[in-house]
Parts: sequence; C-alpha cells; structure tokens
Amino acid sequence: MTDLTTLTLTQLRDALRRGETSSVAATEAMLARIVAVDNDIKGYLTITDELALAQAEQADARRACGDDSPLLGIPIAVKDIICTQGVETTAGSKILEGFVPPYDAFVVRKLKAAGAVILGKTNTDEFAMGSSTENSAYFTTHNPHDLARVPGGSSGGSAAAVAARMAYGALGTDTGGSVRQPASFCGVVGLRPTYGRISRWGVVAFASTLDQVGTFGRTVADCAAMFQATAGYDPQDSTSLDVAVPDFEAALTGDIHGLKVGVPREYFIEGIDPDVETAVRAAIARLADLGAQIIDISLPHTEYALPVYYLIAPAEASANLARYDGIRFGPRVAGTDMIDSVKKTRALFGPEVKRRIMLGTYALSAGYYEAYYGRALKARTLIKQDFLNAFANVDVIATPTSPTTAFNIGATGDDPLQMYLQDIFTLPVNLSASCGLSVPCGVDSHGLPIGLQLIGNTLQEATILNVAFAYEQSSQ
Ligand code: GLN
Repeated sequence: MTDLTTLTLTQLRDALRRGETSSVAATEAMLARIVAVDNDIKGYLTITDELALAQAEQADARRACGDDSPLLGIPIAVKDIICTQGVETTAGSKILEGFVPPYDAFVVRKLKAAGAVILGKTNTDEFAMGSSTENSAYFTTHNPHDLARVPGGSSGGSAAAVAARMAYGALGTDTGGSVRQPASFCGVVGLRPTYGRISRWGVVAFASTLDQVGTFGRTVADCAAMFQATAGYDPQDSTSLDVAVPDFEAALTGDIHGLKVGVPREYFIEGIDPDVETAVRAAIARLADLGAQIIDISLPHTEYALPVYYLIAPAEASANLARYDGIRFGPRVAGTDMIDSVKKTRALFGPEVKRRIMLGTYALSAGYYEAYYGRALKARTLIKQDFLNAFANVDVIATPTSPTTAFNIGATGDDPLQMYLQDIFTLPVNLSASCGLSVPCGVDSHGLPIGLQLIGNTLQEATILNVAFAYEQSSQ
C-alpha cells in the first residue's frame, strides 16, 4: 500500500476524488508521521489530533454526499500566530500562553469552508520576529534536512512540517520574508502574496502595513492550491483587496515563452554564499532555456531596504504590542498595583520582542520621529518606485531568496544584526506593493536546499507561480 504521506497535496486530492483513499486514512497517516518525527523536528507547538480526526470524518461524510470542496479532507498546518477557535494561539510568546481565541481568523474560516483538516499549530519566532524560530519562547524547530540547523523563520514550524511530510500544506505569515526564507531553507515552495490578497483578520499583528499571510506546499501546485483556498476579499479587514481572485491553478501552464525576467544587479552582492549564487544563476539560465528573455535591471534603493524595514516594522510593532497588558489576553502576573502588574506581565516578552518595542518606541518618539520614522517612510516610497520602474520593463524579477542556506542553531549568537541580514533579499517585496515566492533550485555542498525568489508586480501571483511551475517541471 502506498505511504499516504509521500503524496503531494494535489495527488492526495486526486486520490480522494477517485475514492482511492479517505481523509481519515490520510489524517491518521499524517498524525503517525508527526509522532514518528516531530520529537526531533519540533515543528508543532500544538497537535490537535482529536479535532483533526473529527474534521476528517466530517470531510469523508461530506464527500459521500457529493461535496467536492477544493481542500476537502486534506490535512494541513497553521502557524501559531493565526487565531483558531478553541485552540490555543500563542504567537510563540509566553505573553499569550494559554490564550484560546473565541473565533477563527478569516483565513482559517476559509480553509475550513474549503474542507481542510487542521492538524495543529506550528512553531514561530515570538510574534514572528526572527528568521530561525530560535526566538520562539517555547523551543527551536530543527531543519528536517539537518537537525543541527535552523529551519529558517519566522514560519519555520510550517516550513519544516511541510518538508518533513507532517502536513500536505501550511499557512505562514510574511512581514519581511517569514514565508519565503524558511521555504528556501527547508526546500519547499512558499508564497507571499500581494499585501491585502489574504485577510489579516484574526492574525496576531506584528507590523500592520507589512504583514501578509502566505502559503507553503511541497510543490508549486500545492502552494497554489492553498493560496486559491485562502485568497479573497474580507470586509472585516479594511486593507483587504476587493478584487477578483483568478484561477491560480489553471494559470500553471508551464509556458513562459517571451516572458521578461529581470535580474537586479544589487542582489548579487559580496557576502552571498557562492553555492547560492551559482545555483540561482543556473536557475535563471534555465528560465532562458525555457524561452524567457533575461534582462539586467537595477533596483537602486535596495541598500536602504534593511534599515527602512528595521525602523518601520519595530515602530508598528511597538504600537501593536501595547495591547498586551495582562488584562485582555493571556496570563496576568500579579503586582502591588495595576501599573506594577502590567510591568510584570510585560516582562513575559522575550528579548527580541523587547528590543523591537524599544527600537520602535524610540523611532516614534517626539524628538526623533522625523529623523527616523519620517525618513524611513520617504525611503520606502523610493523602494516602491524602484519596483514600479522595473515592472514597466519586465514581468518578473529573479533573485536568491536568502544570501545563505540554513545555518547552525546558535550560529548568530547574540548578534541581532547577523539575523537581520537574513532578510536582505526578501523585505523589499514587503516594503513595495509586489508579491514574491521561493522555489527550490538545488542544494549547496552540504546538501542543503537553496531557494530562487521570483518577484511579481502587484496582484501578479499567477505569473510568478507559473514561472516557478515551469522551472519546477523542467527540473524533474
Ligand atoms: N526576519 C524578519 C524579522 O525578524 C521578518 C519576519 C517576518 O517576516 N515575520 O522581522
């Protein structure tokens, strides 16, 4: 009998449609796989096995009645920063330990309506601040390709779960790269859609002008199927885009003849791992073999993206995280009076979150507002303009996802800047109005996965997914 965990999401969907297997069987296979490997990988913070089996039974019953919803009966995982009704949602933080949301995030509602089975909640850096899951207040997730290494972050639990066949697909969030970079490190496909494409309602806020939910799959088609089920307008999120959702799976034709692929010179810099550069350049050459036209481009304000992001994101975080006072959500630490209690409760934040709150509060303070936050906003506009100029001449932009492959747990030590440098190629996408994905493009000399980042103009997810699909098909 086939090991159901080896099927991709779309293969399982076909098998379910043909009646060759059941959702209960697939869910049991995934839960057994989690028991077998997650003690070592630690991708999940919470495993909702009983709920998952109940959902699987319901899915099988729905199918028996002729229901063929897009993800009917397919077991998936959800990053623990996305609210799930009745299931603890911690955002990887002690300040939300024991918080059980009374509602599902809109995106979880959509998944449930599509028939998905939720296996559990995956590990994340605390409030999604980080690039390795080492900032989770609970534990670090290990990279399935080498347990001594990080899976990337902040959605490292979701990426590791998909890579280790502990879920057929997963949700993450990407504020500065947190879907694409862990996808790259774990050798899976990760999409960060255009801001506003997927509702943020019920997603614990980090930096509200940058946050966006994204999807993981073992293949491009799997990632597209997850995206299809979760994209769409939500009136509860004022930044949600009220636009038509194309058929992303139908857009996967694999034909990229005549497509213009821009390669920005600012992304092939000193310090980039030579194996990464070689693999990404080879992947770009393959796109040319497939009929694409490769064009050298410049995104001249790229060097400002890192400092701009690390002003804007902490500024927004400092405002968003003011709500954790022990009164409305999560645990409360008793103090001598109200102020003392709030202080003691807020001491539950981990060191990286405290650093961001301090950075953000400083950047927004009266005397420095114009000098830091105000200038960062102006520079953000220049970065956005770079992309608009580039997309006047090209259809997609190809770059490495990350300057390195997965690093050893503990390697960045106490140096937050080293960790921030991980985001150098991903966060310009968040600062502009573009979308981006990471697709595996080979391995380094240690056998660790490398990711090719494909960036598209606003709402052009179908284009980047199709380029990734063409590349993936040609490498099989
Ligand atoms: N690594 C980046 C940060 O620490 C991005 C995180 C994210 O996208 N959530 O802020």
